[in-house]
Amino acid sequence: MVEEFKQEDHRTQILLLIHTGKNMLQNQPELYRGLNYPWGVKATPAPGEPIKVADGVYWVRFPMPISLDHINLWLLEDDEGWTLVDTCLDLGNSREIWERIFTEFMGEKPIVRVICTHLHPDHVGLAGWLTEHFGCELWMSREEFLMCKAMTADTGREAPDVAIRHYRAAGYNEEQLKRYREKFGNFGRAISPLPDSFRRLLDGETIRINDRYWQVIIGRGHSPEHVCLYCPALKLLISGDQVLPKITPNVSVFPTEPAGDPLKEWLSDNAKIRDTIPDDVLVLPAHEAPFCGLHVRLTQVIESHERDLDKLFDHLKEPRRAIDCFPALFKREISGDLIGLATGETLAHLNCLLGRRRIKRRRDENGVDWYEQKPEASPK
Ligand SMILES: [Zn+2]
Repeated sequence: MVEEFKQEDHRTQILLLIHTGKNMLQNQPELYRGLNYPWGVKATPAPGEPIKVADGVYWVRFPMPISLDHINLWLLEDDEGWTLVDTCLDLGNSREIWERIFTEFMGEKPIVRVICTHLHPDHVGLAGWLTEHFGCELWMSREEFLMCKAMTADTGREAPDVAIRHYRAAGYNEEQLKRYREKFGNFGRAISPLPDSFRRLLDGETIRINDRYWQVIIGRGHSPEHVCLYCPALKLLISGDQVLPKITPNVSVFPTEPAGDPLKEWLSDNAKIRDTIPDDVLVLPAHEAPFCGLHVRLTQVIESHERDLDKLFDHLKEPRRAIDCFPALFKREISGDLIGLATGETLAHLNCLLGRRRIKRRRDENGVDWYEQKPEASPK
């Protein structure tokens, strides 16, 4: 119903948002699951070839040699130079793609500022290399910068005991714990060393680029202090991973903060963004294609987590471990490397239900946590 309601609204706006550009993709607006995609739902610009999306704003898609096979980066032009938003992994041919963009697209103008929306390697991977190359500053929120520094410092270390206990409590067997140990310390492998200082981005502050203001909007849950950039004059929202059209961003509990409730933050900040940013923006996401329909998408994501929380609550009529809860939350079977992400997501939903006092948790003599409905918690 929500999807049908919003469909009409965006048709006219999209026509206004289309700009002409030399390298622009064939414009074929497309409606898909309640969202409008000005360049089509499967728009895939050629790797490393910027496309103009608005005056002074360019979209460039970088390939990635991982299962999520691309990232969208944004280039903002000003008189004195370029501002980049996100950087891609330091992996594969991404440095060569950047070098081609420097010479063939950016012309004489240097990069004057590198903004990273958040700490994940596909966003921050080449920030150190780019800022050093151009002698410019890295702009990030403080928690993202410091957390990234801390996590990259784990590269090559052995998994700490507290992390092993965390996953044992979730129900991992010895084989699964062994796999976790083998994988630990990989976070920083596709990140060039970050600079030693940075420029902090604060929620609500504005940055002036090309005589237009971009407002910083912080969202928590997918990462600690994720930055989005909203330009009212251009009706654009650079959303990073905070708002994606099809993928639901991962919201996880990690061993560093086992009692955290990132899902609570995720739900409240998505609602905050829906309340504060108008619906008539073109959303520029880090993955998949630009789209209109911000409020519909945020509502879809919030409602789907609420449904998942209810399904999980129903699943806990009898005591279960975190890993026993996968069938309540995931359609596909969880195996191999997916188990880490699935466990983090499941713990985020369990901690949210604990925070709402709908379930209880008991640790048994083997250090394994069992979750169960509270008898007095009525179904919502
Ligand atoms: Zn991310």
